[in-house]
Amino acid sequence: MSEPSPDRASRAALGIIRALRDAGHTAYLAGGCVRDLLIGSAAKDYDIATDATPDRVQALFPKTQEVGASFGVVLVKHEGVAIEVATFRSDGPYSDSRRPDTVVFSTPEMDARRRDFTINALFLDPLDLRDPAGDPNGNEPVRAEPRHRGAAERYTEQGLVIDFVGGLEDIKRKLIRAVGDADKRLAEDHLRALRAVRFASRYGFDLDEETAEAIRRHASELRGVSRERIGDEVRRMLGHPSRHLAAWTLQYLGLDEPVLLEPSRKAAPKRLGRIGDESRYWTRLAAWAIDRGSIIEATQIAPLVARYREALNLSNEERDGLKAVLGGVAHLLRGWPGMSTAAQKRAAASDWFLESLRIVASENPEEGARIKTRVEQLQRTPSGLAPEPLVDGRTLIEAGFAPGPVFKRVLDAVYDAQLEDRVSTAAEAIELARLLAAEVGEDEDESGPV
Ligand code: ATP
Ligand code: MG
Repeated sequence: MSEPSPDRASRAALGIIRALRDAGHTAYLAGGCVRDLLIGSAAKDYDIATDATPDRVQALFPKTQEVGASFGVVLVKHEGVAIEVATFRSDGPYSDSRRPDTVVFSTPEMDARRRDFTINALFLDPLDLRDPAGDPNGNEPVRAEPRHRGAAERYTEQGLVIDFVGGLEDIKRKLIRAVGDADKRLAEDHLRALRAVRFASRYGFDLDEETAEAIRRHASELRGVSRERIGDEVRRMLGHPSRHLAAWTLQYLGLDEPVLLEPSRKAAPKRLGRIGDESRYWTRLAAWAIDRGSIIEATQIAPLVARYREALNLSNEERDGLKAVLGGVAHLLRGWPGMSTAAQKRAAASDWFLESLRIVASENPEEGARIKTRVEQLQRTPSGLAPEPLVDGRTLIEAGFAPGPVFKRVLDAVYDAQLEDRVSTAAEAIELARLLAAEVGEDEDESGPV
């Protein structure tokens, strides 16, 4: 299913809330979408929390799907959009630091308190709209009689916000703060440390002092979290323009060690900060690795790639990309200017070239610009950057060559000549091949056993 437009998704969520309300239930927008609406950033998906049990939700809507009925979550398809509807719940003890062992359906307050950070623990009633400008003194209107005891309730342009944990204040102060005791909340699920870093960098928020201290204290315990979850968090952190802030914060909190399975470093992630949003995920990882001082000698690439693959649960494509890009950077830095025209063209036509060039340019913009200019020159040569070969193995055999050990070397040398515009027709290419084959043959005779 393709992503619905935010407008359609919010309309569908509103429709579901209205239907639940008409059936006598309490229903609010909850979690990330409320946070995003209040911060003014585009909400990704709209989640609903309600006192209706999963059975009730399934009975009320014709198109539903159980996604986690034991957790009280039902997917409702409404107006062509799928929306998660979850019953208010409190989480039981965590034994695998990932999912609570049991959940108990409970109150909105308990549901807010099970959530990780205060800014993620707000509810919004989008149907309760007062005119926020209605107060002549310009004060933010507050509901006279709270709907829920113990909650601060405040009208916003989006509706009535219900806040059990001080999240509204933290949004104002731009603070990521754990709900309740930071130590306990991290011990329940160590992935929350990475979520804190992701939200802080994404929104440019600070980490509350106590939350940051707790993260630092528990950093090494992140190793207990599955590599898949860790990898997903890092992929999302580096996917956002604030990626260098995320990397810096991970390092600052000592999380880089359990995340990357290598010693903690404090170096500023400068290349990562300049890498640009069009880059691939593995290019960002490569930039960060180089920022961290991993010297890229050819012999160091394979162990680094193997480590990152395990640490971040990289796919085969990502692993191969990382390896190629790191190799490419080493190749470009080692001696692009001294390479032959053919070697430069071969490099410029490789998969890794543009991505490796991003990294070279991020550390040395002049060198990056020089390489780009040179590639444009190469593109304008008669043969261009990556022409179809004038001859291949079959053409050579047809021209009377015997397939043998020198074959590939001859073909490569002939293609180099084509790239350098020393041959431009098949006949010239075959003639050169004959010459080369004879030479190479003589070399082999000389160096062979007597
Ligand atoms: P985004 O989807 O933009 O990454 P989000 O806050 O919506 O951010 P989700 O993973 O979709 O994140 O989770 C939805 C809500 O569930 C969160 O806002 C939070 O209230 C709660 N939540 C998610 N993961 C955890 C967790 N590990 N511990 C406690 N609460 C969590
Ligand atoms: Mg979400």
